[in-house]
Amino acid sequence: MSAILSLIYLIAAVTYIVGLKMLGNPKTARRGNLIAASGMVLAILGTIFLYDKQVPLLIHGLIWSAIILGSIAGWIIARKVEMTKMPELVSMFNGMGGASAALIGIIEFQNGPDSLTSTIVIVAGVIIGSISLSGSLIAWAKLNGNMKSTIRLPKYNIINNLFILATLAMGFYIVWSGGASPLYIYLLFLIALTYGVLFVIPIGGADMPVVISLLNSFTGIAAAFTGFLFDNMVMLAGGILVGSAGLILTFAMCEAMNRPLSNVVFGAFGGDDSSAGEASSGVTQGSIKKTTPSDAAILMNYANRVIIVPGYGLAVAQAQHVIHELELLLESKGVEVAYAIHPVAGRMPGHMNVLLAETNVDYDKLVEMDDINPVFSNTDAVLVIGANDVVNPAAHNDPSSPIYGMPILEAENAKSIIINKRTMNPGYAGIQNELFFNAKTSMLFGDAKDVLTKLVQELKNM
Ligand code: NDP
Repeated sequence: MSAILSLIYLIAAVTYIVGLKMLGNPKTARRGNLIAASGMVLAILGTIFLYDKQVPLLIHGLIWSAIILGSIAGWIIARKVEMTKMPELVSMFNGMGGASAALIGIIEFQNGPDSLTSTIVIVAGVIIGSISLSGSLIAWAKLNGNMKSTIRLPKYNIINNLFILATLAMGFYIVWSGGASPLYIYLLFLIALTYGVLFVIPIGGADMPVVISLLNSFTGIAAAFTGFLFDNMVMLAGGILVGSAGLILTFAMCEAMNRPLSNVVFGAFGGDDSSAGEASSGVTQGSIKKTTPSDAAILMNYANRVIIVPGYGLAVAQAQHVIHELELLLESKGVEVAYAIHPVAGRMPGHMNVLLAETNVDYDKLVEMDDINPVFSNTDAVLVIGANDVVNPAAHNDPSSPIYGMPILEAENAKSIIINKRTMNPGYAGIQNELFFNAKTSMLFGDAKDVLTKLVQELKNM
């Protein structure tokens, strides 16, 4: 039996690796997700049915109830969630992972760890799992607006450092004292939970995707510790993969924003989520030129090449279907169309790819930043839809700008630029965009979906 179970675990671990690899490309991502999920189902069923110890019927009942209830809840939530709410959902799921790791650690500690290594692993799992649990719940509350974006206690850095020291000291004490009373592990759980809260509350709501990715990697590490504790290879492999993927993603996001992780964690900009209607940063840089859907349609109709720059506003407006319609319409008129994809456009990694994949946009039309940037200078018109920071030339021109050094889409090099957004409010970074004031730029104000629908109508009439 145990040989079959080991084989199942091996197969499951391979599916995770293959699945992860396939997630790297929009064409294979959906299948990769399914493959890894099948591996997970196989590992769970194998564990339940092939476990070599006798498990009481009551425990089987509890396990199946949890699986059924969890699957139904997960299915309903995942079906209903909007793309813009995805970071929230990931955060909640992640918190549950952290909770599982911490609770398993507490129970195993009460059962009495059988070696020093087990105690160390339990303590580490409880610390990391608890931080991930409370930190993820705070991130979730901030993202769904139930909690103020940035809460900074006086001397919060000192308080946070004291809490992390207290957490580590308690962990060391439990390991050092060997069979400490279970009370200590509860105390450790409470201190680490508090640290998780303190760690996340000062961070700006809009920086949450980076923090969630970091906490996600914490949960993976906590799960890996649990796998080590139970000598369960598939849990260990899964935990290591989640832990390392989360870390890679965290650093990739920081790199794409040209901000060190310390800057995100200790907060510098993006204090408020700028999804809608917040006040402008107040910096105006001359006058802007407004345009109408009719004039913008004429411009694109006579262009040889149009590049579409999608951003967060496209996702908010749920305008992905109508932008695809616009793209097909332009192509039917002989215009060459491509989408310029910035690595952090939107509010989560790959946001634009996922959004546009939903409408079956041809993947070859989604061009990465480094490949599309040289093309802008040979482009007649750029249509920026609900994007702001990712096209802000201040990243190149203004050393005092918080986004200075961030790689951007060089839309400013095109012959003409049409920018759609609703107001002159800034984007996520909270700063004004000098591209709006460029002589080649025309502002096309309005909700992305309404404006695109009008553009499509105008083009159809031509
Ligand atoms: P921005 O947040 O810079 O700008 C989005 C713009 O969309 C806003 O200026 C807003 O202006 C406009 N908008 C909002 N709703 C609508 C609507 N219904 N119709 C039309 N326009 C709308 O988005 P970008 O995509 O350019 O940049 C992403 C930002 O998020 C970057 O700063 C990045 O660093 C950050 N970020 C991204 C992460 C990722 O993984 N993708 C992770 C963490 C941060 P208005 O309100 O006037 O309409």
